[in-house]
Amino acid sequence: MHPHVVIAGAGPAGLACARAILNERPDLNVLLLEAGRPYRRRPCPVDRGLRCTGCAGVCNVVSGFGGSMHWGDGAKLSLLPSGRRLVPHLGEENAQELCATAFEWLTAPLPAKPVLQGEHLSEDALNAFATNKLQIREYPVAVLGESDLRAVIEGWYSDLVPALNLWHTAELVGAEPHGSGLRLTVRTARREQHITTDHLVLATGRRGVTSTTSLLQSLGVRTELPDISVGVRLEMAVDLLAAIGEEHPDLKVSQLDHAQKIKSFCFCGGPNGGRIKLTNYQSAFGEPVITLDGHETTERPCGGRPLASNFGLLCQVQGRGNALEARDSFIATYRERNRGRPFAQSLRAFLDRTGDPGTWRTLDARMPFQPSIQDLSAGRVDRLFTNAEHASLTAGFRRFMGAILTHSGVGLTVDDVLDEVLVVGPEMEFLWEKPEIDADCKVPDLPVYVVGDSAGIAQGIVQAAMMGIAAGRAINSADFAGV
Ligand SMILES: Cc1cc2nc3c(=O)[nH]c(=O)nc-3n(C[C@H](O)[C@H](O)[C@H](O)COP(=O)(O)OP(=O)(O)OC[C@H]3O[C@@H](n4cnc5c(N)ncnc54)[C@H](O)[C@@H]3O)c2cc1C
Repeated sequence: MHPHVVIAGAGPAGLACARAILNERPDLNVLLLEAGRPYRRRPCPVDRGLRCTGCAGVCNVVSGFGGSMHWGDGAKLSLLPSGRRLVPHLGEENAQELCATAFEWLTAPLPAKPVLQGEHLSEDALNAFATNKLQIREYPVAVLGESDLRAVIEGWYSDLVPALNLWHTAELVGAEPHGSGLRLTVRTARREQHITTDHLVLATGRRGVTSTTSLLQSLGVRTELPDISVGVRLEMAVDLLAAIGEEHPDLKVSQLDHAQKIKSFCFCGGPNGGRIKLTNYQSAFGEPVITLDGHETTERPCGGRPLASNFGLLCQVQGRGNALEARDSFIATYRERNRGRPFAQSLRAFLDRTGDPGTWRTLDARMPFQPSIQDLSAGRVDRLFTNAEHASLTAGFRRFMGAILTHSGVGLTVDDVLDEVLVVGPEMEFLWEKPEIDADCKVPDLPVYVVGDSAGIAQGIVQAAMMGIAAGRAINSADFAGV
């Protein structure tokens, strides 16, 4: 078998790359390899109040058709200048055009274009943050609810699948130069097989966080260490985050002074709140490790207690050596403290570096909202962090949350909510090593492209699709023998 192009990964980067190729070159034979399952076979036990089991080695939250766009969840589409690190890489004009095309393609299956928020914020919002020396980063954001995202994934499937070869539960595990192309090793449930191809696109996202670096290094590609961030996810009652969440669904801020840099991440605080997600990294870092993410919800029914909202708060790793040493030291502490499984602490105990009385059930029952997941235990989340990291997170939280509360009009201060917020840990982001790639996302001297999260430049659905399109267009202009 010799497809012209093999794409590893059916997340937004791989799917957009496939579309860019097939729109212009329907004559090319494209094989899309996806390590995970078909989109309707990706249930997450944690979403149903159960324990994360790892789903037989392939986490359904981050693997399967759609990639980290999980069928059944919602998502936000954040446009440039979100992901602005891509601009110098792709060039201003090219980046803007790719962003518009990515948004157009991602939303094409929807009956109407979603409303864009996140710009032209109210004076009230800007002032509340400025008082805390924070500036809100304004950019257009579209919120896709659960039904919208289902429609997007189904639309991509029905458009692409008749035009290409899709193998589910098929993982790219090796690549070596072969003439002017490559010889690939693909592992399926039943066997390992070899395929030759002219071009390989690596769109392996979260699941490929370390394996893709190893594969690239085995091909002689140089990679640069990442700027890892670590932190927590804060969960609270929906009314605390709703006002700012409605104005800016993907709230991010920059600091106006020279305080230690912290960032809010993946804000899930609209009127229906959001759900914490567990992402199982399986053996990517040795023994299995589970970290957190979140997604906004628009259709979740309310039960007995008010719904929960959440956001991630991250700081740069500090006092742990280089990026890889820092990552390994953080994960080692996490395994030591809670066997690599997420745990929770009250905000008061997290800030004071003390323990909470009782078990997770006790802590859960104390909260005035319904925590979005049950697979947690109570523990010393604060102990995951060095003193410097803890100081950054706590100072950053007070300013960020202080601004949110001022703007919310609920009449509360940070000190009023210390017993009403859960600190869930850990969140780890920006973990990808950065391969040397050009503006087409191609590595030097090899027919290999690295797109999406795996490129280590910017995270996000639109940003992944932008890179996928750039690579697809570059492949379209290559010569293919006999075509
Ligand atoms: C829970 C969660 C919520 C998020 N919410 C948002 C949001 O609202 N908005 C936003 O912009 N971003 C969000 N993100 C981030 C965003 O989803 C990612 O940045 C984006 O999906 C990256 O796209 P990608 O195609 O590079 O990788 P992914 O979407 O991670 O897809 C990679 C795919 O490659 C497959 N794969 C990996 N290795 C191999 C291999 N060797 N062979 C074959 N297949 C392989 C994986 O199984 C996976 O399906 C969220 C992430 C998570 C985890």
